[in-house]
Amino acid sequence: MRIDILTLFPGMFTGPFDESIVKRAIDNDIVNIKIHNLRDWGLGKHKMVDDYPFGGGSGMVMKIEPIFEAVEAIKAQQGSDSSVPVILLTPQGRVFNQKIAFELAKLDRLIILCGHYEGIDERVREHLATDEISIGDYVLTGGELAAMVIIDAVVRYLPGVLGSEESAAEDSHTAGLLEYPQYTRPPAYRGWEVPQVLLSGNHAQIARWRREQSILRTFIRRPDLFEKANLSPAERKMAANRAVNPL
Ligand code: SAM
Repeated sequence: MRIDILTLFPGMFTGPFDESIVKRAIDNDIVNIKIHNLRDWGLGKHKMVDDYPFGGGSGMVMKIEPIFEAVEAIKAQQGSDSSVPVILLTPQGRVFNQKIAFELAKLDRLIILCGHYEGIDERVREHLATDEISIGDYVLTGGELAAMVIIDAVVRYLPGVLGSEESAAEDSHTAGLLEYPQYTRPPAYRGWEVPQVLLSGNHAQIARWRREQSILRTFIRRPDLFEKANLSPAERKMAANRAVNPL
């Protein structure tokens, strides 16, 4: 997968992509992330990228010309395929979640536009962006952190990135449920013991316990997800009973 990011602050990406799983995916040529400085396409000798809003008001708006020209140049580098999806990051977009991460991970290429200041000239949204994504109902200073969040979640889904395919399959939100509780050694610490079933070596019982815990957690913490989850009537009843009577 190739991801091109268009930003006014390329330095912000130093760090998050130089560590851990994303770095390994880059080193293993599973993902190729290119960061482009929008100012390189700025206008005039001052490389202008923003201007005052028509109609007045506070703040600056990112200009249309540098963004169009940058995206066209990036597409041309990639063999001038005009069908490359262009995601505009905006608090007004569809709210990012695991399902969207999974969808995006199926793409070969992706261009991400990071806004700043008061936002971007509306004509970019109308005539260039193919998708608009928000990472939540709050306003960030710029799209850079949002791009990092999205890329981190997408890269985990690329084949060969995680050590075991199962680790993504059982993650919270992948199957519409929160993940079951995890424990590691020691089996007891300050009197707090790991559930006996996990030490039993009985894989069928462990799988059953994990499924129940996952359902129960979702019921208690995220009733909105529980409502939508693909569960049998017996599983729904179990959650309602166990939430009232945990043992
Ligand atoms: N005035 C804009 C509005 O109210 O919709 C917000 C502009 S915000 C200060 C600057 C930039 O940060 C946006 O253009 C967008 O790229 C990015 N941004 C802010 N919040 C975001 C969010 N929740 N998700 C994704 N991007 C966000």
